[in-house]
Amino acid sequence: MTIKSRAKQLIETVHTLTASACPPHETTLICVSKYHSVEEAKEVYQAGVRHFAENYVQGLLEKKEAMADDIVWHLIGPLQSRKVKDIINHIDYFHALDRLKIAKEINKRADQPIACFVEVNVSGEESKHGIKEEEVIDFIKSLTDYPKVKVVGLMTMLPQGVDVSEQHRLFGQLRKCRDQVAEEHLPWAPCTHLSMGMSGDYQIAIEEGASFVRVGSAFFQ
Ligand SMILES: *Cc1c(COP(=O)(O)O)cnc(C)c1O
Repeated sequence: MTIKSRAKQLIETVHTLTASACPPHETTLICVSKYHSVEEAKEVYQAGVRHFAENYVQGLLEKKEAMADDIVWHLIGPLQSRKVKDIINHIDYFHALDRLKIAKEINKRADQPIACFVEVNVSGEESKHGIKEEEVIDFIKSLTDYPKVKVVGLMTMLPQGVDVSEQHRLFGQLRKCRDQVAEEHLPWAPCTHLSMGMSGDYQIAIEEGASFVRVGSAFFQ
């Protein structure tokens, strides 16, 4: 199967799942093109995908330069503070905010408010990334000092090897955490979105209310 036809299938699957989810909701399919060439990413584009993600600053800038202007760009990997200035005004969404130091640098370098997801470690495993669930509200409250950081939602990545019932539970937990943040009605944190689900678990994530799924290998296998 070609990349283009596989991409069309994925678009269709996401569409079907969002329509049958309870309650029905919108999910945006993001193509994570990080290990793939511009040519391969362009095939996905031709199938109709308009949201692309990269993990690294350089990879994103190269693809953005080579691809169409109507693409929405997501940076999903952790960002080092010295790299913020190189990328922050070239992206539409940043998915991995988990440190005040980065928020401070974004605030300093961004020309306008940046749509950010706060990364949450819902599984509690020893992980390098993500804020503990119980610290999310305090972290987001402390972002009041950085008006260019706009918290549009929460993001998570599940550890590998988690079974389906555990996937449901952990994605559901992120959803509840998102609802709690939204109820704070902080002007800088509308927090209406959920960025969750990758190739191995995006179907479950959609059932649990994902607004963005970040799918890589399933496009290119
Ligand atoms: C690589 C990556 C993905 C996509 O993973 P696949 O398993 O290839 O779908 C999604 N989110 C993040 C943060 C990633 O680093």
